[in-house]
Amino acid sequence: MIPASGSYRLANARVHQSVTLGLAATFDSDGFALADITVANGKISSIAAQAASKVPAGVIDLAGRIVLPCFVDCHTHIDKGHIWPRKPNPDGSFMGALNATGADRVARWTAEDVARRMDFSLRSAYAHGTRALRTHIDSVAPQEEISWPVFETMREAWRGRIELQGACLLGIEGVRDKKWFDRLAKRVAAAKGVLGVVTYMVPDLEELLDHVFAQAIKHGLDLDFHADETDDIAAISLKKIAEAALWNGFEGNILVGHCCSLARQPDLEVLDTLDKVAKAGLAIVSLPMCNLYLQDRRADQTTPRWRGVTLLHEMKARGIPVAVASDNTRDPFHAYGDLDMLEVYRMATRILHFDHPVGDWPQAVTATPAQVMRLDGFGTLTAGGDADFVLFKGRSWTELLSRPESDRIVVRAGRAIDRQLPDYAELDGLMVE
Ligand SMILES: [Zn+2]
Repeated sequence: MIPASGSYRLANARVHQSVTLGLAATFDSDGFALADITVANGKISSIAAQAASKVPAGVIDLAGRIVLPCFVDCHTHIDKGHIWPRKPNPDGSFMGALNATGADRVARWTAEDVARRMDFSLRSAYAHGTRALRTHIDSVAPQEEISWPVFETMREAWRGRIELQGACLLGIEGVRDKKWFDRLAKRVAAAKGVLGVVTYMVPDLEELLDHVFAQAIKHGLDLDFHADETDDIAAISLKKIAEAALWNGFEGNILVGHCCSLARQPDLEVLDTLDKVAKAGLAIVSLPMCNLYLQDRRADQTTPRWRGVTLLHEMKARGIPVAVASDNTRDPFHAYGDLDMLEVYRMATRILHFDHPVGDWPQAVTATPAQVMRLDGFGTLTAGGDADFVLFKGRSWTELLSRPESDRIVVRAGRAIDRQLPDYAELDGLMVE
């Protein structure tokens, strides 16, 4: 359907207002308009409102199929991905996940093991239409010395297909060993990475956060936190991060993931936290599939009663940038997933009610994570921008979000890519006990 020459015109492409820039068209109540898109030299030369006249010969008629910009996945763990067959979560709980992953890391995460699983993950993400991806990298000693060089190699190998970013990952108590943590911050800076930690309510949380911020300022690093991934209403580390950002006068980007406990807290507490999050300029990413899987998991086999996700609607209403992302795929934190951002968006629509109205929620998997990751021109369709987009069969939200769209067409630099997914059997050699 898409000419290999890379020069063509698409008629009747259904584009969304929230992710299409500079299009003077009348958008319908779902935010869609029909557009005429011209592509040449890897770029979108023009996007214009569709004229009512007949489609001329030589122009590809999309007949109202939806076209979205390629996805940006801002929170993943591709160093953990696909270990499930050799290290399942024994009970589906958060502690089960933490313990199983820790044991597998110590026993199995050689450079080759990490590299092969990372590459498998990136091939899946690419085939599904993802253009940029940030992964957290388990950086508990001595793993940081193994995984960061693998990340750097992988980033170079994938340049031009997936823009790869890395953030270190360790529990906040790891910051107590300041000499070691400062060395890690330096290593992350050398890899042009992002400084990340997992926060929970340790007694010295404020002091440790101050040290994290000091190191980020010293090396000019952006920050990425996992915060309050729990139903415990006493977990308020999101607020502590916002306060630390304010009193440290931090000017870099800060992304905070999860924030599950916020959805359980009393309204006054929530309002105070959201005020501070907005004032401090934090961006929030929710991980709906992983939260649904892990949160409210009950040891007595009773039924979960909450969805696990944070208060994205309330955040967006205050102007806080909000995204959704994949998180874990086929590891003890989430037994499923394939880094398919359409699946994430479909699940987010159901779990978080990204509908009636859809509004600008498509930005949560495209333009907003691109801004957080400082990727200019990613996550939007615009004249003069890169011809990186996904063509779907669906012509409306109900059609798009009802089927897996396994036959979608992914266009990169104007050309349709080979969308063959890697075969699970490739990893069999890594799964033997
Ligand atoms: Zn995560």
